[in-house]
Amino acid sequence: MARLAAEIVPVTPFQQNCCLLYDADSLRGVVIDPGGDVPDIRQAIDRLGLTIEAIWLTHGHLDHAGGAMALKAALGVELIGPHAADAPLLSRIEDQAKMFGVPGAFANATPDRWLDDGDSLAIGTHVFEVIHAPGHAPGHVVFYNREAGFLHAGDVLFAGSVGRTDLPGGDHATLMATIRDKILPLGDEVGFLCGHGPGSRIGAERRTNPFLQGPA
Ligand SMILES: [Zn+2]
Ligand SMILES: [Zn+2]
Repeated sequence: MARLAAEIVPVTPFQQNCCLLYDADSLRGVVIDPGGDVPDIRQAIDRLGLTIEAIWLTHGHLDHAGGAMALKAALGVELIGPHAADAPLLSRIEDQAKMFGVPGAFANATPDRWLDDGDSLAIGTHVFEVIHAPGHAPGHVVFYNREAGFLHAGDVLFAGSVGRTDLPGGDHATLMATIRDKILPLGDEVGFLCGHGPGSRIGAERRTNPFLQGPA
C-alpha cells in the first residue's frame, strides 16, 4: 500500500511551509505553495530524489505563490490552482512584495488551470479532493486525501489559530463559516499541514483552538 510523505521547506521572510508531497514508493509528487527561495526548494527535491509532476497553489498570497513561476519554469510542470477568485491577487504579487517591503525574487503568477470546489487531483493513486475554502483569501482551496485522513489546509486553519483576514479579500465571517461548514466536518481524526507553523489534527483544534470555542 503506497504511502504519502511530506517534506516542509520554510520559505520567504514569512516562514511559509512550502510542502513537497509525494508517494514514498515512487518518489513522484507535487510542490504545494512555492512562495519563494526557489533554490532551497529545488535542493530539497534533489536531496529526496523526487520527480515533481505539478505545482499546486492554495491561494494567491505572495508567500505562497511568489516563486511559482520560477519553479514552474525550472521544472517544466503545470501550475494548478487556486480558485479563479484569487486571480487579482496572483496578478499583483509583485505589488504585494513592495507593499510588505519583502526582499527576494517574487513574480506575478498565471496558473495553467484554475480549481473549483469538488475537483479532484492525484499523486499516483492518491486522490485529493479540492475544497474551495474562502475567507483568508477569496480563492483559497485546500486539498483533502480521504483515504489517508490528510488535509493540506493552507492558511485556513493553524495549530491554535486561524488565517488572518485583514489582508485584501479577507473576510472573517466567511473564514469561520468555511471552517465550521467545510473543514471541521471532515472529522476529528484528520491530520493537517498548514502554511505556517506545525500541523495538527482537526479534533485537537475543535477542542482547544481559541478561535473555535463558544457558540458556532
Ligand atoms: Zn495567506
Ligand atoms: Zn501564508
